[in-house]
Amino acid sequence: RAQREAVVSRHSEVLETANTHYRQQLRTARPAIEYLKSRGLSGEIAARFGLGWAGNDRQGLKAVLPNYDDPLLVESGLVILNEEGRRYDRFRERVTFPIRNARGHLIGFGGRIIGKGEPKYLNSPETPIFSKGSELYGMWEGRTAIRSNGMVIVVEGYMDVVALAQLGIECAVATLGTATTPVHVQKLLRASDLVIFSFDGDKAGRKAAWRALEACLPLLRDDASIRFLFLPEGHDPDSYVREFGPDGFRTALKEAMSLSQFMLSELVGRHPMEEAEGRARCIHDARPLLQAMPAGALRMQVQRELAQLTRLTPEELTQLIHLEDVPSG
Ligand code: ATP
Ligand code: MN
Ligand code: MN
Ligand code: MN
Repeated sequence: RAQREAVVSRHSEVLETANTHYRQQLRTARPAIEYLKSRGLSGEIAARFGLGWAGNDRQGLKAVLPNYDDPLLVESGLVILNEEGRRYDRFRERVTFPIRNARGHLIGFGGRIIGKGEPKYLNSPETPIFSKGSELYGMWEGRTAIRSNGMVIVVEGYMDVVALAQLGIECAVATLGTATTPVHVQKLLRASDLVIFSFDGDKAGRKAAWRALEACLPLLRDDASIRFLFLPEGHDPDSYVREFGPDGFRTALKEAMSLSQFMLSELVGRHPMEEAEGRARCIHDARPLLQAMPAGALRMQVQRELAQLTRLTPEELTQLIHLEDVPSG
């Protein structure tokens, strides 16, 4: 444990040094400042999230980390060691987003290109202190608002978190370009008993929402609420809040779909429910989902609704779902 703390603090230290450097560079990086302004962000909000700028110098960090050959820099993801044995900065010509864990320790960065180019976003790699499957961007910055609003909003992108905060909605966090995991859900439910997923209004966003639902199922509690806000096609929380304002976004949040509603409407939407075959396949699809849910009032409610939708008695459905082995495939 003490050893682990030592690793965290060694990594955090070099990351903080880089962060200070990036933030310093943003002060004089006109194109980056213009870019952030064009996205509706003020200097104040950029400072609150510690946004920075990594310039185009291939070894820019050498200026602040003179021990540039230290393997720790490669291990921390700040420096890339290529096949020819040359070292260079991972983040170049990108706006930097420092990522902090729940205790405020700096654990990695995201970086966005400001012009055209690929990839649009670059993240720190997995390191001994940074694992995308268990961290959420904005958890630290939003901790007070999450508590006072009694809600945490989960979005896809860094810019969604920052843009929402800019317009006064400060309780959003983002998954870091990965699917929502059970570890994420655990952290979310620890932070608040109301979790609202609001992914992009596109095919990828809807798929991500379904995967989030699956990650939530085993962790559902009758005293917590998980909801899904589906934005109109083509919108993400950033574009939506900028077009419709914070009140527009808040109104949309109030109308977010409950998890059970989302689950049932998806299941029903996939099959021709006027046919016995369609209803049977619906039950087939629902079975693993219901089995993943802990026993409790919510599962009972969902079972009852599903029974109605598939024209079974609740007893018949219970029998099908709990007393039979699930055939594979
Ligand atoms: P912006 O509004 O700045 O164009 P976005 O956040 O709306 O970006 P999306 O394409 O919706 O961008 O991606 C959502 C999130 O997924 C990003 O914030 C980033 O964390 C992650 N992501 C997107 N593209 C990549 C990529 N090429 N590599 C790694 N992560 C990515
Ligand atoms: Mn998207
Ligand atoms: Mn997006
Ligand atoms: Mn966007």
